[in-house]
Amino acid sequence: MGVRSRTVLFSVHADDICMSVTGLLRAGWFGARPVLATVYSLSQHVVDRIDRTVWAEHGPAIRRREDRRFCDAFGLDYRTLDLRDVPLAPGDLAARSEYRRGLREQVAALIVELGGSVVVCPLPHGRNVHPHHRAVHEAVVEAVGELHAVSLWLVDDLPYSRLPIDRPVICAGQEYRPTVVPLSETDLKIKMAAMAIYASQMRPAYFRAVRRPAPGDTTGRISETIWLPLNAARPKWLRAGALGSACPPTVGGRRSQLLTRVATSR
Ligand SMILES: [Zn+2]
Repeated sequence: MGVRSRTVLFSVHADDICMSVTGLLRAGWFGARPVLATVYSLSQHVVDRIDRTVWAEHGPAIRRREDRRFCDAFGLDYRTLDLRDVPLAPGDLAARSEYRRGLREQVAALIVELGGSVVVCPLPHGRNVHPHHRAVHEAVVEAVGELHAVSLWLVDDLPYSRLPIDRPVICAGQEYRPTVVPLSETDLKIKMAAMAIYASQMRPAYFRAVRRPAPGDTTGRISETIWLPLNAARPKWLRAGALGSACPPTVGGRRSQLLTRVATSR
């Protein structure tokens, strides 16, 4: 039987969610003992500096070990969906209805088993979205849409994409508003250390990417952004205090006309 009122954070591959949420984790956004759920945990993606034959044999185990170290450091439980990367080309997903249904069913089953009441997933955005990132986002959005009393929260898909914070996002017909959580010097040091845990995949460009302010943030602060559905009930652990600064769009201004619409397959 699952534990009630729990947050489940979906990571596409090992290392993906770490780059978007360490500050949010430290600020208490995800309540007690959240779960990291890595989807393509058997990914054999190899970075240039690692020998391919060694990686083919040991890669998935190395990546799972990195995931576990991250979970231990941040007080997360750890689950995987044990999927291998499949050759998905951009644009392929529309034609892969069976694949998408299978992924959605696995995601939904895990949320139910864990008793997840809040589900967090990255929001890949813009051109050239990695097809696996799009597949997981769509599967999670659709699974949550079919479940009762489960809230979906969105985070950026760092280092690949970051949403502008000066306008709401529409995802599956629902409006989401951003809250910006600034990172202190200590938060930032801890974030860099957390990313370094994923040594087998991390690149210098990723460290640079997470130090840039969010698009539309004129203050220049380094931050993470979380997107909550408008008017949704907040769990108990969030009502205790302010955890960041909400950024409502300018009412009546030109920008309020602009919405970031996120394509889903629905
Ligand atoms: Zn990834």
